[in-house]
Amino acid sequence: MRVVVTGAAGFIGGHVAEAFAGAGHEVLAVDALHRSAAPEAARLTWAALADRAGVTLVEADLAADDLTKLADADVVVHLAGRPGVRSSWGAGEAATERDNVTATQRLLAACLDPAAGRRPRVVVASSSSVYGSAGDRPHREDDPPRPASPYARSKVAVEHLVARAVREGLPAVTLRYFSVYGPRQRPDMAFHRFVEAARHGRPLPVFGDGRQSRAFTHVADVTAATLAAATADLPPGTVLNVGHSEPVTVRDAIDLLAGLLGVRPRVREYAPAAGDATRTWADTARAERLLGWSARIGPAEGLADQVRWHRERTERAG
Ligand code: NAD
Repeated sequence: MRVVVTGAAGFIGGHVAEAFAGAGHEVLAVDALHRSAAPEAARLTWAALADRAGVTLVEADLAADDLTKLADADVVVHLAGRPGVRSSWGAGEAATERDNVTATQRLLAACLDPAAGRRPRVVVASSSSVYGSAGDRPHREDDPPRPASPYARSKVAVEHLVARAVREGLPAVTLRYFSVYGPRQRPDMAFHRFVEAARHGRPLPVFGDGRQSRAFTHVADVTAATLAAATADLPPGTVLNVGHSEPVTVRDAIDLLAGLLGVRPRVREYAPAAGDATRTWADTARAERLLGWSARIGPAEGLADQVRWHRERTERAG
């Protein structure tokens, strides 16, 4: 297959592009590196992709450039965007709208354009943040959205754009990712900040009291779900939760990390971030039924993998 992966210089996009190339597909890796919130990490991922057989790099801004050629594919996996709840407030709101909503709107229009010749199957990244906080049961895909931040609102808008494109005949599906971690995790994300703080003898910066829980999901599981969704015959318009079914509190994750790093867990609490959920919890019955997918990697194994990556990265740098 010819597969377009947008956001391929990003955390999840890099893994997904590598996995498609590893499976023997022809990959067009697309990214606007200058839009990355983590430019140094993006450049490293981009350089590594450049060395992969079967991968062609295309630097393009989905919110501004001509996208006609990108739609000429069997599959488009759309992972480009501006992630993160905290950075979406205030000055970050316009960029969040641009790189999530405008970029998706333009990409879907290009895929629907008769000039593209064929209509690719499209997989679009959304987020558990569309749900807000979970109550006493896991989030189900049909639960009404309760976005509590500009980022979450942008993802609700993205989902509406996908639903409209499906009505216009595009075979598109939406994946709601839950907090993703593992090798190459974005530097603004919790575990990345925790590991780096601990390794430098600093207290771990925690937003809130650490009792908030998350369906932390290893990037290898997320990649497997994304490849499965791109190759399965899902009904157009399908929305799937892609998250680990057992939430873990931030405190428990910190204890695990401290054990792996051989340090005493010392934290510094900061005010909770506005719009951050107190609990995310994924009901994955639909993904199990339609894709045969469920997350396999638990927090002990997954965090050990991420810590290993931080160590190897330091060794390579020094
Ligand atoms: P990331 O920031 O690492 O990667 C996003 C990439 O998109 C970056 O390389 C950036 O340069 C690129 N990009 C941004 N704007 C662009 C534009 N206008 N044109 C082309 N490229 C552009 O983010 P990630 O963590 O890999 O997340 C990937 C997707 O998954 C995003 O849509 C994000 O909202 C979603 N998501 C991520 C998580 C998570 O825990 N990481 C959770 C839920 C949803």
